[in-house]
Amino acid sequence: MERLAKNGGVPVRDTVIGYGRQYIDEADIAAVVETLKSPALTCGPKITELEKKLCEVTGAKYAVAVSNGTAALHIAAMAAGIGPGDEVIVSPITFAASANCVLYCGGTPVFADINPKTYNIDPASIREKITDKTKAIVAVDFTGQAVELDEIRAICKEYDLILIEDAAHSIGTKYNGKGVGSIADMTTFSFHPVKTVTSGEGGAVTTNDEELYRKLRLYPTHGITRRMEEMCNPSDAGWYYEQVELGYNYRMTDIQAALLISQLDKLPAFSVRRKEIVKRYDEEFRQMPEIIVQEEIKESDTTRHLYILRLNTELLNCNRREFFDALHAENIGTQVHYIPVYWHSYYERLGYEKGICPQAEKLYEEILSIPLFYAMTDSDVEDVIAAVKKLVAYYRK
Ligand SMILES: *Cc1c(COP(=O)(O)O)cnc(C)c1O
Repeated sequence: MERLAKNGGVPVRDTVIGYGRQYIDEADIAAVVETLKSPALTCGPKITELEKKLCEVTGAKYAVAVSNGTAALHIAAMAAGIGPGDEVIVSPITFAASANCVLYCGGTPVFADINPKTYNIDPASIREKITDKTKAIVAVDFTGQAVELDEIRAICKEYDLILIEDAAHSIGTKYNGKGVGSIADMTTFSFHPVKTVTSGEGGAVTTNDEELYRKLRLYPTHGITRRMEEMCNPSDAGWYYEQVELGYNYRMTDIQAALLISQLDKLPAFSVRRKEIVKRYDEEFRQMPEIIVQEEIKESDTTRHLYILRLNTELLNCNRREFFDALHAENIGTQVHYIPVYWHSYYERLGYEKGICPQAEKLYEEILSIPLFYAMTDSDVEDVIAAVKKLVAYYRK
């Protein structure tokens, strides 16, 4: 489909800018090459080094590196003991994996609505969805902003629930001064290239609980242990190992770990730049009644992964679809995060109906994500602002 830029057909930019992109420097490349020349491509010292580094970055006691963020969610749900008959409360405005991990374990995701200002799961809605089958909560730090951890943890304490925080967006974010990853029972991370730091594919789970850690360490490697104290039939024979649980091969490689260690060195700089860009966008868009700016809770010192442009459609002569297409015609890449999980046909077939989370559904109809990544130049940022201003002027009622 030919998309003509508005107002005379001349786009604000003559080259396309995507909504997100990884940043790889020479240090990253050198780290990968060095590992490729080393004896261990997997199960080696880089994994141990990475797990230690993740503990430093997040403030967690334990970290387990895995093959991707979905695997991280899966083993967290397993460690939480989710099984058939268990309900797990999940935010609907997320990537499907946050809910799929419950299905992998035979449990039932129950969607709670979002707070219409912060777009994160609403603790009041969580309370409404709790039944005597509820076993856990998967709370997603949407766009990088921490969920209301104090309130959600209080609910978990009251009802004896396990809190899994999906921090795929929020590495580097702090809640009341503590790193995301050090607060929930388990916190999962993704290191896919669109995320703030990357290992190509990769993920991790952090926890402060030794018993959960023991499980989290077993599941990514088939449930096999070489530790005598974990064996049912212990032997000190040199070849002996024992499968004590049913696990998977969810291991990260040392090549990926080397890349991620090098990326984590840059996380403070990534955070600073992302905050600068968010501040600039906020400054402009707060002045425009046609655009609604995501609100932040004071507890969250956010390293933002996504910038959500929410349209005040009452003041615009267009819907989100038209605005999305028009931004693309201006060569500004955008994406929509996210379609409510239970709107997907797979979930529909499971019996989920539209209407269960009205705030989430309304949000979905009004949002798109605009470019936000470390390597954006100031002039890129101004191009995005110019394009948004141009379209708002064009579509203003
Ligand atoms: C990216 C993402 C995941 C999945 O991570 P992968 O590494 O792609 O498997 C899970 N939850 C959220 C919120 C994500 O953004």
